[in-house]
Amino acid sequence: MSDRILYRAPYLHTPTSPFLHPEALKTEHDGGILVGPGVAGKGTILATGAFTAVQASAPDATVHDLRGPDTRVGVLLPGFVDTHVHYPQVRVLGGLGMGLLEWLDRNTLPEEAKFSSAPHARAVAKEFLSGLAGHGTTTALVFGSHFAVAMDEFFGEARASGLRIVAGQVVSDRMLRPELHTTPERAYQEGKALIGRWHGQPTETGAAEDRLLYAVTPRFSLSASEGILDACAALLQETPGARFTSHLNENLQEIETVRALFPQARDYLDTYERAGLLGRRSVLAHNVHATDRELDSMAAHHCSAAHCPCSNSALGSGFFPLRRHLAAGVHVSLGTDVGGGTGFGMLKEGLQAYFMQQLMPAGSPFSPYPVSPAHLLYLSTLAGAEALDLHDRCGDFSVGKAFDATYLNPPVGTPLETVIRHAEGPERVLAALFTLGGAADVRQVWVGGDSVYTRPRPES
Ligand SMILES: [Zn+2]
Repeated sequence: MSDRILYRAPYLHTPTSPFLHPEALKTEHDGGILVGPGVAGKGTILATGAFTAVQASAPDATVHDLRGPDTRVGVLLPGFVDTHVHYPQVRVLGGLGMGLLEWLDRNTLPEEAKFSSAPHARAVAKEFLSGLAGHGTTTALVFGSHFAVAMDEFFGEARASGLRIVAGQVVSDRMLRPELHTTPERAYQEGKALIGRWHGQPTETGAAEDRLLYAVTPRFSLSASEGILDACAALLQETPGARFTSHLNENLQEIETVRALFPQARDYLDTYERAGLLGRRSVLAHNVHATDRELDSMAAHHCSAAHCPCSNSALGSGFFPLRRHLAAGVHVSLGTDVGGGTGFGMLKEGLQAYFMQQLMPAGSPFSPYPVSPAHLLYLSTLAGAEALDLHDRCGDFSVGKAFDATYLNPPVGTPLETVIRHAEGPERVLAALFTLGGAADVRQVWVGGDSVYTRPRPES
């Protein structure tokens, strides 16, 4: 049997940014993606195009026709990339009716304090990783737990899941709950040990590649002294390949508090900037209330902003100034935020990003950006891979990348199936997926050619 598999399905992807290239969306109505050993491991994309053409070039490949008996309603997309999602918040999803700081105190931090228990941490890690894979997310920048023991449990489960996970221990030393506080010395030592155990580790699926990476993660400057930020900077500088992530400019009350805590800083971003935490592999979540200086500086440091529109809506944080980010040259990706947001669905997150731009009041300082289905696909896939500096590995179906993919196949009789069946073209299919699609439509998910999730076929 050939070690090359030729997947047959309609596919859509954005190998470039539609914010820069109007023709970025690429589609194949009867597509073929040839997967086998190559530069990205045993599940490398070796060829793509019309099925008949790819098959003619690789007649020995084993054909997997994903379409099933009905060839019209399945679509293969690149695996989703979620660039801001909190592992310890799965069980507090749905805490509506609060702003950020009250939501933290009443809804979220009591749950996060339970993660000193390894069994609790392990159980939630399984729930969290299943939530990602079951929604078609193949790569995630994960905001971790404050407890090192929980991060060992999490990374262990992440390795078993086969997903690409960038994550780290969250550190804080003030203004949360005492059991969530650490010290700069302990933050450094525990981070160093976790990096030694998990950063760059392969998965258990046999893939000889580093699917686990470490992210240095102060919770936010409100809860992190300069000493904690300096400890984070030391870990970041000493760890080749480590990423940095935190929160920025989410809520007006939060911003005022940070301003009072850091009187010497020019603005919120500067609390991270002066500590030496900003670079190409830095991802800052939210940035709803950004100043021009902050945007210019983020662009100069090549940082990314993780836009979390469901969270911004649920917590009433505000309208994300997408156009201002783009105009300043700041890279933008998407995140579900999970507890602050409304779940793991990146299709829903894309739809909410669209809604927010539709609803944004016109005029300075706001200016809505007309977001198309191609923009939403890019923001949900390649933009996230670019934010994490993993775009040589995943984010689209370019030859030489790993086969990270989600096959969406809505159940027969659902509105999504009906719309796709009658859709006039790929843009319309994509719009329907973002409008109507969810976990129930995810049929199978792969990372590096390894199947990491399969929905059982219904009896019929
Ligand atoms: Zn967050």
